[in-house]
Amino acid sequence: MITVVAMSVLAQGVLLPEDLAKQVDPKRMRAVVEKLASWHDRNTNNPGLTEAANWMAEQYRQIPGLQVEIMKYTLPKMARVSEEKEVVQVIAVLPGETDRRILVSGHIDTINMVERGLGGHAPGANDDASGASVALELARVLSQKKWKNTLVFCAVSGEEQGLYGSKALADRAVRENWKIDAMLNNDIVGSSGNKNGQKDDKHIRVFSTDPAVPLARGEAPTRVQESRELARLIEFVNRKAVSGFGVKLVFRADRFGRGGDHTPFWQAGYSSVRFTEANEEYSRQHTPDDLPEFVDWKYLGNVARMNLIAMANLADADAPPTNVRVDRTQGHDIKITWTAKPGARYTVYWRDTTSPVWQDSVRVGEASSYEAKKMSKDDLVFAVGAVGGIPVEAK
Ligand SMILES: [Zn+2]
Repeated sequence: MITVVAMSVLAQGVLLPEDLAKQVDPKRMRAVVEKLASWHDRNTNNPGLTEAANWMAEQYRQIPGLQVEIMKYTLPKMARVSEEKEVVQVIAVLPGETDRRILVSGHIDTINMVERGLGGHAPGANDDASGASVALELARVLSQKKWKNTLVFCAVSGEEQGLYGSKALADRAVRENWKIDAMLNNDIVGSSGNKNGQKDDKHIRVFSTDPAVPLARGEAPTRVQESRELARLIEFVNRKAVSGFGVKLVFRADRFGRGGDHTPFWQAGYSSVRFTEANEEYSRQHTPDDLPEFVDWKYLGNVARMNLIAMANLADADAPPTNVRVDRTQGHDIKITWTAKPGARYTVYWRDTTSPVWQDSVRVGEASSYEAKKMSKDDLVFAVGAVGGIPVEAK
């Protein structure tokens, strides 16, 4: 089947879950952050972590439809961990029609790096009760609807010791052959300004690694991670959806010298990105000053809405198309073809070769090809995605 669509027809091709986005409640998120910050610390080595994990599990259990698990894994002996020990984190699953999974995560553990030993006050309101509250808020809102794909909400631990909780989860995903389309890591997402006088309450940064970055241990990938394409999709659906709040793409795996819970996932071949506020205040990370009073609740609510719009699109998306090709014959027009799944609907995207973001799209329904007049395949990059799903670049 061939579909000819004029260039001027610009359908959105995006799910705009405004009814759900309106239900994101910054007051409810504030209560979560304040509760988590009320523990003296949530160091993975200390009892506070287990108590906080149990409290988070209880919050998830109150949401109808979720399967809540306290996942155990082993924290190895290392500096500041006197002996190998079993620790916990929380995983809550909202089953969908398919076993393809979308993950959203924040870490509940904290650390104090300014005092020696493990006894320092570490409230971790922004790093990372803010991210944990985003995942919980998404569970509360998104669980009201049935979705095509399975949604997984995570409150992981062991992050501050070296990403141990997310590594245990990514290893388990590989072992159990989880089909993960996307993993969204929220870490330090609650403050819109810093002591340096920089303020930006209109953007969240999205860090994504290049697909060309080799996977862990130089192994051949068994899955194709397209973290960059996931980041572009998140930017695109949010540009169409939220007015006054946007996504700033950063084409780096993370900030200099830093890592996050998305890292073990992209290293295992899953598409994953990190969300972090635009202007961090480093003196309020890993110190007793990481307090709720420095969290901007309105900003945190907008971050949750941005996550929700991305997750809702991914949650109802069909599997990505395969064999996405651009017809290489010389000419003034373009033709894109792909292998379509019966019943699936697709969106075609394009951008200038120098543009970091998709500039336009057209929804083409159940087509398996797209033709347009007077578009140059030499000057543009094309991609095709299932509606709401990660686009696949036409080669
Ligand atoms: Zn963190």
